[in-house]
Amino acid sequence: MKFNSFFIPVFFILFILIFSLSTFIPALSEYGYVSSYYPNNYTNSINISSSNFIWPAPGYNKITSYFGYRNAPTSGAGTYHGGIDIAAPTGSNIIACSSGIVTFADFYGANGFTVKIENGNLTFLYSHVSPTFLVHVGQYINKGEVIAKVGPKNVYNVPNNPYKDSNGNPTNGATTGAHLHFAIRKDGQAVNPLNYF
Ligand SMILES: [Zn+2]
Repeated sequence: MKFNSFFIPVFFILFILIFSLSTFIPALSEYGYVSSYYPNNYTNSINISSSNFIWPAPGYNKITSYFGYRNAPTSGAGTYHGGIDIAAPTGSNIIACSSGIVTFADFYGANGFTVKIENGNLTFLYSHVSPTFLVHVGQYINKGEVIAKVGPKNVYNVPNNPYKDSNGNPTNGATTGAHLHFAIRKDGQAVNPLNYF
């Protein structure tokens, strides 16, 4: 009898504790403090990710094309989208979401002018950037450093550039307008960048 009368309140308190924790943790994730994939919330400010990456386009959070299968927005753009498109005007700063070494800074086919940064088994691609590169191959980049500017829609003097707009002017890869195409490859495979934010 003594056993029961002592433990019933203990179990009651434990139950209340577990119940309140289980409701509290999902409530945190609703508001984005815990990593979760809520596409509709991406018009709100996102800065620090669950992986401790920094959002690559400060001040610009509107995603105009998500990762995965889609209708090709323009000729030469894939139906499988290996990254995300972030709307941002020409000249906007692009920052390194993670530290790493620059392994590529050049025109990269449909991606247009592109900077690649490697960190371990991850490669970060920042595409349709300005042809006036701010970094060079071999350079070590700190997370948060400005590595490029969002490029213009049209670029000139790229040898054998097959990408053109409806007026026949050469474009910065397969693109319909200024934006940042941001991609992450893990062990060489494209992964959804939003999984890291
Ligand atoms: Zn894209």
